[in-house]
Amino acid sequence: MRQAWLPFASYNLWSLSNSRVGQEFLFCDMNRGFKKVRQKEPQVKVLLEDNKHQRIGKLAQAGVYEFYQDPKLLSQSDGVEKVAAILKLNQEPEEVQERIIRILKNYCKEPILVGKQIIQLSKGDEGFPSPIIIQEGSYCFNLYAPTDCTFKQPDGTIHILDFKTGKSDFDRRQAYVYLLAASYLYPQQPSVASFYNLEIGLTSDIIIATSEQLKFVQIELQDIAKQHELEKKRYWENPDDFATIFPPNPGTSCNYCIFSSICKFSVCEVLR
Ligand code: SF4
Repeated sequence: MRQAWLPFASYNLWSLSNSRVGQEFLFCDMNRGFKKVRQKEPQVKVLLEDNKHQRIGKLAQAGVYEFYQDPKLLSQSDGVEKVAAILKLNQEPEEVQERIIRILKNYCKEPILVGKQIIQLSKGDEGFPSPIIIQEGSYCFNLYAPTDCTFKQPDGTIHILDFKTGKSDFDRRQAYVYLLAASYLYPQQPSVASFYNLEIGLTSDIIIATSEQLKFVQIELQDIAKQHELEKKRYWENPDDFATIFPPNPGTSCNYCIFSSICKFSVCEVLR
């Protein structure tokens, strides 16, 4: 039976809806409009598909997955080359190839999943995950919290590990979304979350959350889901109001924005 449609929330939507404290200059609400409302328009779609950072993230995840499937590769002198061949790395742009090879070599030196009791490990190409249906008061929404890796610690604690690449900071909001999801998926066990940057070998602190903090996160996500649906509806009714509904924030943020080539508010556009 098909499930009834529900609004959704995710870490991704949270990060696109609210700025991180102190990073307001990098935040642009119009980004959410492009990514989450106009994503099917051909010119937007092409920019979303041709995203080098996402590609590197997916290939790095796939590389870790392949090493986990065949741990012998970790100690073979041509293990990295073999994984690179499985990933068809030679079909990728040069920069992507170089960074993934570096990541695979780093992982061979520091194979952090070896010896872990893995419950789930993503290959990176699974597509859209199944949502967790959350009811907050009378409001229901789908929570999407796709995890890179989940393992069980020797004391039974569920540990959700998120892999990073590049210079992206660890955002605790993402960990809280994972911990909220874990409270539904593994209600009998305590859970923790952490991040590991595969490119620079950096591990975050272990992040935990009290039940009060998780309740706060759940309410925050509910508000975000509600607000996003309202704004989507306003846009469909009045597409000309795009910039009013999703206000642009031209400036430093444009330098990192994949939509700068099509956004009429882009600082680059203004300078041209
Ligand atoms: S180009 Fe600048 S103003 Fe336009 S969506 Fe991107 S960050 Fe916002």
